[in-house]
Amino acid sequence: MAALGAPAFRAGQLAEAIYRQRLTDLEAVTTLPLELRRRLRESGWQIGRPSIVQVFQSQDGTERYLVRCADEQTVETVWMPEGDGGEAGDGSEPETDDGPEIEPGRRKGKTWSRATICVSSQVGCAVNCQFCLTAKLGLQRNLSAGEIAGQVVAVLDRHAVEVGRDRINLVFMGMGEPLLNYDNFMAAVRLLVEEVGISPRRMTVSTSGIVPGIERFAQETDAVRPKLALSLNAPNNEIRGELMPINRKWPIEAVIDAVRKVPLRARERVTFEYVLLGGVTDRPEHAAEVARLVRRTGLPAKVNLIAWNPGPGIGYVMPQPAAVEEFRRRLEEQGIQVFLRRPRGRDIYAACGQLKRTVEA
Ligand code: SF4
Repeated sequence: MAALGAPAFRAGQLAEAIYRQRLTDLEAVTTLPLELRRRLRESGWQIGRPSIVQVFQSQDGTERYLVRCADEQTVETVWMPEGDGGEAGDGSEPETDDGPEIEPGRRKGKTWSRATICVSSQVGCAVNCQFCLTAKLGLQRNLSAGEIAGQVVAVLDRHAVEVGRDRINLVFMGMGEPLLNYDNFMAAVRLLVEEVGISPRRMTVSTSGIVPGIERFAQETDAVRPKLALSLNAPNNEIRGELMPINRKWPIEAVIDAVRKVPLRARERVTFEYVLLGGVTDRPEHAAEVARLVRRTGLPAKVNLIAWNPGPGIGYVMPQPAAVEEFRRRLEEQGIQVFLRRPRGRDIYAACGQLKRTVEA
């Protein structure tokens, strides 16, 4: 706007149009004078966002979207009505949140009372976790801030979400490692906080343990810092190094040291994500080791257990339900707060670790 000689408040009007009114055509932004729209267009500006080009609907209400960017690259975004339990116990529950109170009832025919959106940060991923389908794509490119925030706006629009009234959580746990696309990821968070109006306390970013990224994240202010989840997935460096090659660069101790630098809000907890792989990470002795590890950090923490979701071409097996229960029991016995993630949309390859632009589901 400055380059066009227009006053700064016009930029605010444009942001309002894109992020609150969710408009995708400059012509529809009638708050801007016709003449200004013409000059914007003639200078090559357009507005828009990635578009949902395919929808896969699960029996459980989860929707997985194939989202296409302007250069035809696609990523995946997931809508989980009623969440998956992963957001529980991390300081974002209604009774611990001083954000706007939401009507619990279902309004205007909505079939959900709260929802979680899982957002991608990169096309593909370079981290190469052995249990993850996204890893098979390799890293294609980073998403821009607009493409990351745009996924959220597209999904909010699809479900006619009223931000500020409807209870929406965001998890940056889709395709990619957000902290390896740090600047764009945090710019997207600022757009989502400042322009879309979602509180950072309703956002969780999951990292595989990128130490320099976590250290930068620790410098962000409360006003824009989402909550942090560490994708632990193994009880020790030996197993973690096998499952997550990144662990050879930044072993568990180095990652925990970095996580300790992140200031926490009142009641906020650090989440340790733990994928249970049958026979590999789900044994009783692993539970004891995880409990020791988490307690030794001294952090207010909770553990999210995720029974591994199968994917084509990945040679692991799902844990037995009894092993999952036993694992949970052993952690709880050691005083660890544990939540079992409900697998959402497993039938449409929308569950954790299953995002790979799979169009055959
Ligand atoms: S689990 Fe996350 S960090 Fe690891 S390869 Fe998959 S998308 Fe990348």
